[in-house]
Amino acid sequence: MSDLVIRVGHLFPELLNLYADQGNIAVLRRRAEARGIELQVKSIKLGMELKVEDYDFLLLGGGSDREQGIVGRALTPYRSDLQTAIEENMPILAVCGGYQLLGEYYELVSGERIPGLHLLEMVTKPGKGRLIGNIAVDWLEQNREFRKETIVGFENHIGRTYHDYPPLGQILEGYGNNGDDRYEGVQYKALIGTYIHGPLLPKNPHVADQLLRHALSYRGHFDSLHALNDSLEWQAHCAVLTQLGVKREKERS
Ligand code: GLN
Repeated sequence: MSDLVIRVGHLFPELLNLYADQGNIAVLRRRAEARGIELQVKSIKLGMELKVEDYDFLLLGGGSDREQGIVGRALTPYRSDLQTAIEENMPILAVCGGYQLLGEYYELVSGERIPGLHLLEMVTKPGKGRLIGNIAVDWLEQNREFRKETIVGFENHIGRTYHDYPPLGQILEGYGNNGDDRYEGVQYKALIGTYIHGPLLPKNPHVADQLLRHALSYRGHFDSLHALNDSLEWQAHCAVLTQLGVKREKERS
């Protein structure tokens, strides 16, 4: 065993846990422990103080409109600490409602705007009908090159998100950010914002490992992670691709 530790801050698990988003942490824990890395997880609940400098990774899950408003207000005092951490390459995974909160605002069907943290130049507006279903995307590098790997999961949102940052992926099946531009999610430094629930990481072990690598390097460790036996994870991943009629990159050309 090494003495490596990753300190995880789980933001408002009591409010933001749609479609089992906290399962992302279970996956990170298992994959870290299999490499001799301890994952120390602390839940930051409403009313508790957030010391951003105490963490190496933050998870912000999805939630309903009401919960987004509460969390947005609760996180506002920490906005500049979060901005600094993001600029210093702290990995953050923000899912659906949590993803929308990173932007300037999330507009409701009524026209009311829930203010976001404005950590990214990004807005979310309502559209006609919810964007629901399984989703598969081609994972993109931050320079928008294809990584030749897919990411799969489930989405359910009414908000349509617009930004000019590198997206997480290009849509193969599903809707993603807004159902129009064929992009899903955002990548900024080590932060990932995504509409993918399910939760995201159990069926996407390659994404989990990228987050672990970023968390380790945020702590100043640049060790590579040894491979694990992910056959079950890939079976689950491929089951979604098959359901959607999408071939894996290797099988496509
Ligand atoms: N309330 C947001 C929407 O519907 C986010 C929902 C979610 O986190 N799944 O757009």
